[in-house]
Amino acid sequence: MHERLRALVKLSEIDASGRALDLQLQEIPARVAESRGDLARLEGLLARERSDLAEAERLKKSHEDEIARHGESLGKSKAKAAKARNAREAEAVEREVDGARRSIKEREGERERLMAAMELQRKAFTEHEGEFERLRSMLSEDEAKAQVKIDALTIERDHVTRGRGEFVGLVDKPTVRRYEQLREKKGNAVVEIAAGSCVGCRMAIPPQMLLDLQREEQPDLAQCPHCRRFVFTKAMIED
Ligand SMILES: [Zn+2]
Repeated sequence: MHERLRALVKLSEIDASGRALDLQLQEIPARVAESRGDLARLEGLLARERSDLAEAERLKKSHEDEIARHGESLGKSKAKAAKARNAREAEAVEREVDGARRSIKEREGERERLMAAMELQRKAFTEHEGEFERLRSMLSEDEAKAQVKIDALTIERDHVTRGRGEFVGLVDKPTVRRYEQLREKKGNAVVEIAAGSCVGCRMAIPPQMLLDLQREEQPDLAQCPHCRRFVFTKAMIED
């Protein structure tokens, strides 16, 4: 009696353990992938900061070139001032000298502001670089640990699901198909009836059906009228 039902109950127990392991086997790589994503984002940020710094460096260089250029024309103007032949020429040269000095001062001011900003940028960059290195070594540790865990879970899963085929062989094909459909849709396909209710959907089993299941010539397999899961009472699977 109930050999088919007992095989289904066993199958369901095996699949429930396998499912828990499968969930862990999915969850571990997903977590590692998330850390990998964080690391890639940080790497992108570092690349942007590095190119910003290079750009600022180029700008600083161009300020310095201009300062040098104005310095040269200041020198020339001063040389001209010594050779001025009259007051008008002297005044004109004086204006040139003032202009060059003003330009130098402006560029120097810009360079100073730029250097202050670069100092902050460099500090942030160094911090992010350190954070990146920390995350990278953490990730490679996590990856190694995850692999060990995955290997152990895979072995455990093989162990838990061993013998599954034997139970499948004890059940007719249409019932196995129905079992698999239910399992896919609801997560589990075989549940107990406890206190008159289906443990799967928590709905009450009709009294007549409960009586039928208690009779001597009880049906071999029963399904919950609400969720269609296979249902059984403890008494049905006891010898
Ligand atoms: Zn149900």
